Amino acid sequence: MNADLLKSFIERAAGRAIDLTITENSTSMLSMKHTPKGDISLRVHRMFLDASPEVLDEIADFVKHRKKKTPLIREYIRKNHHSSSPEKRRRAAITPLGKYHNLRHIYDALNEEYFNGQIAVEITWGRNPGKSVYRKRRLGSCDSAASLIRIHPALDKSTVPRYLVEYVVYHEMLHAALGIKVKNGRRSIHGREFKLRERLFRDFDRAANFLKHKKI
Ligand SMILES: [Zn+2]
Repeated sequence: MNADLLKSFIERAAGRAIDLTITENSTSMLSMKHTPKGDISLRVHRMFLDASPEVLDEIADFVKHRKKKTPLIREYIRKNHHSSSPEKRRRAAITPLGKYHNLRHIYDALNEEYFNGQIAVEITWGRNPGKSVYRKRRLGSCDSAASLIRIHPALDKSTVPRYLVEYVVYHEMLHAALGIKVKNGRRSIHGREFKLRERLFRDFDRAANFLKHKKI
């Protein structure tokens, strides 16, 4: 099931509109809060995209009545918490140690500094795409289904400063933290909150400037 479908299923069962965010955050699988405007903001882990209608009904009840007992949800989290990583992730080689930059160190430090250590995804250098010609390189990507951040190997150079690699990793971690917001049936990837939080990165201006003037 995709995020749009999940949103409309819960909305229909709960009888009200919700603001849904799909997260990778393994410390909070399901949380709800009322916004100052009186809307309901619901954050659910992506594992619930595969939940049965019975589990989703319980989520809808939770939204509707804030009921305390949620046995189906608890059982579902217990069962899927560790198996939530698809096979794909296990098969893919995870190689965070580059020639010049250690992505694991960078990720761990950023996780502590900006995310309270709450991001739980893997990080790896991507495979070298060879000599293909591309207009614009995608320096990073966050594959939610596989809980994996891939960083373009072009950044593993002595001429690329650490703060630039940190910036690209931070950007992808922010995707993992915020999930994909679904608003009026549209997926918002770099929404307002994303842009504001992206600027909290200490070397944001330096990194943006580097990317503007230097070719990678
Ligand atoms: Zn992005």
